[in-house]
Amino acid sequence: MTTLQPTPDLLAGLPDGIAVTDPDILRSYRRDHSRFTDSGSPLAVLAPRGTAEVAQCLRACHAARIPVVTRGAGSGLSGGANAVDGAVVLSTHRMNAVLHIDPAERLAVVQPGVLTGDLRAAVAEHGLFYPPDPGSVDFCSIGGNVATNAGGMCCVKYGVTGDFVAALEVVLADGRVLRTGTRTVKGVAGYDLTRLLVGSEGTLGVITEVTVRLRPAPRPPQTLVATFGTPAAASAAVTGIDAAAPGCSAVEILDRTTLRAVDALTHMGLADDAAMLLVQADSADADAVLGAVAEICAAAGGEVARSADAAESALLMAARRMALPALERLGDHLLDDVCVPRGRIVDLVLAVERIAADSGLTIGVFGHAGDGNLHPTIVFDGADPASAAAARRAFDAITAAALELGGTITGEHGVGRLKAGWLTRELDPVNLAVQRALRGVFDPDGILNPGVVL
Ligand SMILES: Cc1cc2nc3c(=O)[nH]c(=O)nc-3n(C[C@H](O)[C@H](O)[C@H](O)COP(=O)(O)OP(=O)(O)OC[C@H]3O[C@@H](n4cnc5c(N)ncnc54)[C@H](O)[C@@H]3O)c2cc1C
Repeated sequence: MTTLQPTPDLLAGLPDGIAVTDPDILRSYRRDHSRFTDSGSPLAVLAPRGTAEVAQCLRACHAARIPVVTRGAGSGLSGGANAVDGAVVLSTHRMNAVLHIDPAERLAVVQPGVLTGDLRAAVAEHGLFYPPDPGSVDFCSIGGNVATNAGGMCCVKYGVTGDFVAALEVVLADGRVLRTGTRTVKGVAGYDLTRLLVGSEGTLGVITEVTVRLRPAPRPPQTLVATFGTPAAASAAVTGIDAAAPGCSAVEILDRTTLRAVDALTHMGLADDAAMLLVQADSADADAVLGAVAEICAAAGGEVARSADAAESALLMAARRMALPALERLGDHLLDDVCVPRGRIVDLVLAVERIAADSGLTIGVFGHAGDGNLHPTIVFDGADPASAAAARRAFDAITAAALELGGTITGEHGVGRLKAGWLTRELDPVNLAVQRALRGVFDPDGILNPGVVL
């Protein structure tokens, strides 16, 4: 049981100038971008400037058994950075330096509060490429990406955040500093604690430094859009693309609800079709890859168009990034994040259609179709308890459908608070027991992000 100490006792043990207790500011640190998740009132926000100060914060909180909720940029969609009553929120926003870029080894060392888009821009100046590109790339942090193992548009070709993490520095719950991984291309000394910490959602330690692997910059991507009469036809084309044109660097889907919402926001004149696939290729043979994609889409009944130049390509991808902000404008919304084997994506789309019909609610579907990772987004009336309850039921039905299709409850947003109750439905008892034991090793007193994941 956590014993709360009065704030002044805690503050006395901290470095000067890092604690904020202004109630208005504290309120703004209560929640991330998620819906239907609990949040509480933090005692203070702590904004350390480096690893030594993070360690000091954790030593003080550990001594007083005060819960610590680590927060990157707060763009999370599962409630992982939501405060709990009496916790401190440890914000990494002041730890935002790109410390080192090593073009020869193709590595970059960064503090956790660096925005992912800033990291991508910094390495691009050296002709290098950091592939993971969540839709939130301009307003999420690399520490948050590592802690959620974030995905994104071009993960279908390059992999997710964890595939690019070479080494980590992490402050443990009691203030000790742990270093994992290597800066070598290979390295198998001991258990792979780096992989364990990736996706740990602030429950095993505070990530204070990240060494990421880089790749040579690819060519500017070429883009193809294909529109279809039904979302199922678009999804069927995705399966064909995976088999016959595996080199694509993005395979994204937007259904009619999403297309209309994006068009209302951007006035781009997007097609009002039942579904659109947006496919990119950035390799030397991009022309041939997209030529093969065009044939597959046409055979699946799609109408195909190719971007004229890099500017149009970038514009189309920018429209895709607006999917969630555009759907948010339709009213209250509840976003799901499920992933199924790529061969079952048609079944997932059909299941979502059935759930929308049964619930009487609008559900916009968009996502990383090439990964089998969709974000069905339920639009409802938050002022009407019956509508909110129906939204929650639809959300649960979608998550259950993904599991029934051999998928997972979360492809990239993490378990957080939103899906903590779902973990027991995906993992077997032995797996859960090992996970609980591991958490106890890292954080025996349970002060790190209580209520998140397990
Ligand atoms: C419009 C929009 C589009 C999005 N698109 C995508 C997408 O395409 N793919 C995707 O994967 N996600 C996407 N997201 C979700 C979100 O941006 C990611 O989950 C992102 O990785 C969160 O980063 P953050 O810095 O905002 O972390 P936060 O929200 O602050 O925190 C997320 C979790 O990480 C933990 N954490 C943060 N920093 C640290 C640290 N230094 N050490 C330990 N734990 C830490 C927190 O405790 C919390 O559990 C999107 C969100 C929005 C709003």
